[in-house]
Amino acid sequence: MQTINMHYAELKDSYLFYNIAQKTKAYLEEHPGTHLYRMGIGDVSLPLCDAVIKALHEAVEDQAHKDSFHGYMPECGAPFLREAIAKYYGERGVALSSEEVFVSSGASDELGDILDLFDRSSTSLVIEPAYPAYVDANVMAGRKIVHLSSGEENGFLPLPDENTKADLLYICSPNNPTGAVFRKEQLQAWVDYANKTGAVILFDAAYEAFIEDPELPHSIFELPGARTCAIEICSLSKTAGFTGTRLGYTVIPKELERCGMNLNAMWVRNRTTKTNGVSYIIQKGGAAVFTPEGQRQIHENIRIYKNNAACLMSALDECGIQYFGGKNAPYIWMKCPEGMTSWELFDYLLHEIQVVGTPGEGFGACGEGYFRFSTFGSPEDTKEAARRIKTLFSEEAH
Ligand code: PLP
Repeated sequence: MQTINMHYAELKDSYLFYNIAQKTKAYLEEHPGTHLYRMGIGDVSLPLCDAVIKALHEAVEDQAHKDSFHGYMPECGAPFLREAIAKYYGERGVALSSEEVFVSSGASDELGDILDLFDRSSTSLVIEPAYPAYVDANVMAGRKIVHLSSGEENGFLPLPDENTKADLLYICSPNNPTGAVFRKEQLQAWVDYANKTGAVILFDAAYEAFIEDPELPHSIFELPGARTCAIEICSLSKTAGFTGTRLGYTVIPKELERCGMNLNAMWVRNRTTKTNGVSYIIQKGGAAVFTPEGQRQIHENIRIYKNNAACLMSALDECGIQYFGGKNAPYIWMKCPEGMTSWELFDYLLHEIQVVGTPGEGFGACGEGYFRFSTFGSPEDTKEAARRIKTLFSEEAH
């Protein structure tokens, strides 16, 4: 008898961030006291904004009094937060009912849990380079995975063609790691493909708040036909600094049906069985993000990260180094100079200028030859890292 899910044995060792940590640790042991300019991991560096902190304090106080105390929260989310999120979509021209919004503890949880809705024999398509959790969650669930490579030839935004065959389609836009963002007509090709074939799109919009080009879609539901083929998974982690506080949301339209089953109703059943909701305090903090003052404050923070991006992009421009992303996304996807591999570049930057980034190879084989900079670091460190990059690569040119 087999008691264990042996698909775990098929997981590739997740050595990306482990290797980065090992290499930086070894460097610091050899060079004690050295400051490293860390632009590898995509965690935020700015604290939660004042509007959120105030709401969190008030919610803690509510929990101290009999009249305002909250016990279990509704499993699919507090109505006040579901309504605030539906209104946020409405302001961008996407009509949602609050019952189509499910509050979650973050996008990572949902990207894995949502697979409960689909048959184990279904095939998942992952556009690579990709956020590693897509592949791993599918391997654990024993699903077949189709890896669709992207590259410079399609701006890291591949479209479906006659060879595309999959039941679940992971699309991340703005993309981690490449920073590429699908234009409406490109995303429409995926929506049309899904409606034609019966596939379901899992649209990861964790970085939508970083889009500044007004032509680019923030939500897949801006496109006609998406309500019958897509689920959108979102997070307040990067938008509002909730990486440690944990809050996200998932949108499942009521029209989304497959095999005579309604996916919104299935997810209600799933959530009411498998969770007891997100804490009242955190949901109150999250609701503050969607107030006018909260939006103003989170965009002030996003502006600081965007200034970091501008600073790094200008350094790369001055050195004539090619890169992607950075403008509508918090990641810069740099081409490794002179045919270096991404781990060679990692070692070179660490040893020569003490700058730490993420080797592209860790996001799938087609990420080899590229390197990711996160723009979530402190402005001071980012400025100094940019200066060091400029000096290193312009010295090389001479
Ligand atoms: N999706 C993408 C593309 C991400 O890059 C991340 C985090 O880095 C997540 C989801 C996870 O977000 P959360 O913190 O909400 O779990």
